[in-house]
Amino acid sequence: MNANLSALAYIISSVCFILALQGLSSAKTSQRGLTFGIAGMALAIGTTLMSPIVSSYGWIISGIILGGVIGTSIAKKIQMTALPQLVAAFHSLIGLAAVCVAAAALLEPYAFNIGTVGSIAPASLVEMGLGVAIGAITFTGSVVAFAKLQGLVSGNPLIFTGQHPLNALLGILLVVLIGFFATSESHSLFWSITFISLLLGFLLILPIGGADMPVVISMLNSYSGWAAVGIGFTLGNTLLIITGALVGASGAILSYIMCKGMNRSILNIILGGFGGDHTKVLAQGGKEQRAYKTGSSEDAGFIMKNAKSLIIVPGYGMAVAQAQHALREVSDILKREGVKVRYAIHPVAGRMPGHMNVLLAEANVPYEDVLELEDINRDFGQTDVAFVIGANDVTNPAAKTDPKSPIFGMPILDVDKAKTVLFVKRSMAPGYAGVDNELFYKDNTLMLFGDAKKMCEEIIKSLEE
Ligand code: NDP
Repeated sequence: MNANLSALAYIISSVCFILALQGLSSAKTSQRGLTFGIAGMALAIGTTLMSPIVSSYGWIISGIILGGVIGTSIAKKIQMTALPQLVAAFHSLIGLAAVCVAAAALLEPYAFNIGTVGSIAPASLVEMGLGVAIGAITFTGSVVAFAKLQGLVSGNPLIFTGQHPLNALLGILLVVLIGFFATSESHSLFWSITFISLLLGFLLILPIGGADMPVVISMLNSYSGWAAVGIGFTLGNTLLIITGALVGASGAILSYIMCKGMNRSILNIILGGFGGDHTKVLAQGGKEQRAYKTGSSEDAGFIMKNAKSLIIVPGYGMAVAQAQHALREVSDILKREGVKVRYAIHPVAGRMPGHMNVLLAEANVPYEDVLELEDINRDFGQTDVAFVIGANDVTNPAAKTDPKSPIFGMPILDVDKAKTVLFVKRSMAPGYAGVDNELFYKDNTLMLFGDAKKMCEEIIKSLEE
């Protein structure tokens, strides 16, 4: 394919990727976004395959078939709740690819049109140094994030004395080594940069607790985008530079949105130590027994049926129980009974941005019934029932009242303003931040203990009787 035509095809692909990101910003337009993404990627791969630089197709076709088969079978089997660790695993591959491309370019620069061994331009060496560093950090960081989320290692923050000064020292050392590498093209310096970056990836993610992992994944997503930009410069591929920059920027914006949703700074998250399992133990241990009211599915059915308005607040527990379909049935029945039913979505409910929206869309909940925090929060005061299903931290008033609480400052859904609050969960255990929820003990709260899906199925029975 001639150079002008391939440049045009790459521009069209880039536009498709931008439209894909725009489409994916809302559940309503997400399918259109995916279609643009698939079209852009197909055009990009097709154009690259027709480029004169490709001398044989054997390895490429084998890679596409192998990757395609593995990707399809994973996509078919994966549970929604396991998506964060899957994304982490995929990011590790992008990081590894960046390392491999940089190493290949160093060993065989003529294949990349960047000179010959011993005479690579300093600018290309800087790109290579940055690409390998970001790629290696992304690789080991993502592997640790995957292992923590998959439960292969403890989700607790792993903290040791001198950790942050050590990381800072390694970061400075990396910058210095990249500078020397750019002027010397020394292979041993290149491998030192790779080794230190691999180590830094481990050390950066180890102190981060499970609750912060989604933010970390989004940050690693951003790093993997910048690693792709590095590969793009090495390969002289404009499309890879544009796509990498899109991924890098959108990952960074997503991290910012999540931090804002939790009211924490990115620095606070990177410094780590928040949200491990031990915080749950701390929250439970030594706490005096307090009185709370419990109810059954029949009680819930009765209260719901007699309400004029009801707001459902879904959280991580709904995702774990896969209760969204049964929940939609509950709301369908209530709507038929004349109850005004809406869903309130907190920006960090669940374990990834948009987690609840995706699940509710999967269960065909009408988009107009699903409202974001800022659009519905004021309505709790005029609502008869708040039905909190598998959510906890996102309703916890400690975020407003207790400056010592790890969630202090996080905006919350004001469910306590509703006349009655129904909480579906399996126990009195705290949510992911590990803090007790004052709402459980309030006079207008009824705890409905049980698995979210089972509880919804029982409520359906009681509503139908
Ligand atoms: P929480 O983790 O606060 O609470 C979930 C609750 O669900 C638990 O208290 C648990 O109680 C209950 N639960 C678990 N399994 C089931 C089940 N099968 N059936 C019924 N209940 C169940 O979740 P939220 O959604 O309220 O809050 C999200 C948390 O994640 C926040 O702390 C947020 O900061 C954090 N976070 C979210 C991110 C995002 O992008 N969404 C990113 C980073 C962090 P029990 O064990 O008693 O059943």
